[in-house]
Amino acid sequence: MNIETIAIHAGNHNDPTTKAVIQPIIMSTTFERGEDGGYPGGYIYSRSSNPNRSALEQVLAQLEGGIEAAAFSSGNAAGMAVFQSLPAGTHIILPDDMYHGLRNQIKNLFAGILEFDFIDVNDTELLQQHIKPNTGVIWIETPSNPLLKLTDIKKAVAIAHAKGIKVVCDNTFATPVCQQPIALGADLVMHSATKYFGGHSDLMGGALIAAEKSDWWLKIRQVQEMGGAIPSPMDCYYLVRSIKTLPYRVRGHVNNAQLLAQFLEDHPKVERVMYPGLPSHPQHDIAKAQMLSFGGMLSFCIKGSEDDTRKVVNSVKLFTQATSLGGVESLIEHRASVEGLDTKTPRNLLRVSVGLEHIDDLIADLKAAFNSF
Ligand SMILES: *Cc1c(COP(=O)(O)O)cnc(C)c1O
Repeated sequence: MNIETIAIHAGNHNDPTTKAVIQPIIMSTTFERGEDGGYPGGYIYSRSSNPNRSALEQVLAQLEGGIEAAAFSSGNAAGMAVFQSLPAGTHIILPDDMYHGLRNQIKNLFAGILEFDFIDVNDTELLQQHIKPNTGVIWIETPSNPLLKLTDIKKAVAIAHAKGIKVVCDNTFATPVCQQPIALGADLVMHSATKYFGGHSDLMGGALIAAEKSDWWLKIRQVQEMGGAIPSPMDCYYLVRSIKTLPYRVRGHVNNAQLLAQFLEDHPKVERVMYPGLPSHPQHDIAKAQMLSFGGMLSFCIKGSEDDTRKVVNSVKLFTQATSLGGVESLIEHRASVEGLDTKTPRNLLRVSVGLEHIDDLIADLKAAFNSF
């Protein structure tokens, strides 16, 4: 089946009792046992599993070409489940440019429990140098947040698997519409479902999708069930509902992002644009080889100071100055000031989540804002 069809049908179960075409929301926390003490409905207690969560997990697994998925209450909870599933003392290699919230999580909550190095994971030599006997996971995020750096997934997987190391890929920026890491060899895919899966900036969620049912995956399932960082039936319902339009929304985001990137690249007040779909992106070849399309996120640096950058975000009318991404509305953000003191993000960089408004309106808004400095 093609992704549009999976998105609509894989997570939906017609209700056998009422014949409702859309699966109802089952709010019940507990399920009646049979005379023999069994569970004839297949459910026991909603922390362990719930019909709406099962539906969400089924569509997530199929979208990413995985065997099973586990849904969480946020992207960070999904990331945390990976770290918690590893034996104490495991060494993890992570990208030097990655979502700052997860970098802070591992630094603050796992110091003394796990060992970690943040490096350019696309640098083969550097990657090989950092592998230790206790390295358990190579974490990749491609395209990365906020510099849109790419990691060659197949290459990282080859290096990792030769040493029995697992590869986890944060696929939030790309979505399964633009990139299928499991098909390229990744062992586990991670998502912040808060972003494109939700798609409307109104719910939090996270997901892990497994390439195979290993002992490691069973451990992750234990963290999900016993840890309890699960999404509510309502959130699962909304995610299943939003995912039905994911392929079409992402296509719109990608088309707008490509056009906006080209407009920015030609603008005299722009120093450089970071978008994998531009031939000027230093890793455009990797993008063409492993991405199906180039995503809806881009960053750019202006020819100006941090103050000038602020003038731009304070002058836009259609874009909203806010963090997060993947919603239908366009967002723009001065990234360095949200990432905290130790950030390496350039002070003149703006990150854009390109929405689904008409591209002419988006361009006109930025064009006017560039007159502010
Ligand atoms: C937002 C985000 C996360 C964290 O997800 P939350 O839902 O905010 O917890 C992880 N990775 C990437 C790339 C993100 O953009």
